[in-house]
Amino acid sequence: MMSPMTVITRFAPSPTGLLHPGHAYAAYAAFGLAERLGGTCLLRIENIDPTRCKDENIPLILDDLHWLGLAWPEPVRIQSHHMDDYRQAIDKLHALDMLYPCFCTRAEIAAAQPQQTVEGPDGPIYPGTCRHLGAAERQRRMDAGVPHSWRLKTDKALAHTGALTWQDMHAGTVPVEGDFIGDVILVRKETPTSYHLSVTVDDALQGITHVTRGMDMFGATGIHRILQALLDLPTPTYNHHPLMIDPTTGKRYAKSYRSVTLQELRAGGKTRADVRHMVGLD
Ligand code: GLU
Repeated sequence: MMSPMTVITRFAPSPTGLLHPGHAYAAYAAFGLAERLGGTCLLRIENIDPTRCKDENIPLILDDLHWLGLAWPEPVRIQSHHMDDYRQAIDKLHALDMLYPCFCTRAEIAAAQPQQTVEGPDGPIYPGTCRHLGAAERQRRMDAGVPHSWRLKTDKALAHTGALTWQDMHAGTVPVEGDFIGDVILVRKETPTSYHLSVTVDDALQGITHVTRGMDMFGATGIHRILQALLDLPTPTYNHHPLMIDPTTGKRYAKSYRSVTLQELRAGGKTRADVRHMVGLD
């Protein structure tokens, strides 16, 4: 008889700023799932983007999570300490000939965009400009050191893997549809990996059975499913939770909308129970 699976989920904030009530909701969703299913919730700090992440936020985030009453097994996985793991995955994708260099700037992509572009998980679907570059021109630019990212040949990947699906605890079986993904970036210009690649590798390396995260990542899960198939990694079950709306802005809680931080709430005398109430948990 097979032994029942031990549930392992995770909370994975990016230290681009301090935590706000939306993060508190997400953390309680992840730790709450682990508690309900008799499992464990791990903590991961997703800081691969040196232009947006500030390491000085990490101890403040840990402090906020302790204040919320949460505890996790050590060590915390800090993505920037594991670049070798991501490099190995990228090498494997190169060996499968699934990547191509893209030299486009954001402005060039916007200018090349047809009027009615499908929105993918990372914005408008890439029009494929650099996929069609001649080999000599590609080499010339590489030799000249023109900054470039590396994109996934998504249609080729799906032809290689065959049709894919993944399981969401709320939405059920979800098919992967390459036309709504496009050739996404897997190695960024400013860092030798990407969110999609690192999160897929880490979920596998940390033995995550249930990925708990916000609905804003629902569309990205198809990319992660393709990467799992290409890299021979297991596929967890997904638990995408709703995003909390900040009543003061009418938009989701976000640093970019200047949402109040947990630190500010604490300084103003609010308690953990107040925060839970703010996000509709009690
Ligand atoms: N690091 C992402 C964030 O802070 C979470 C993504 C995930 O859980 O897969 O939004």
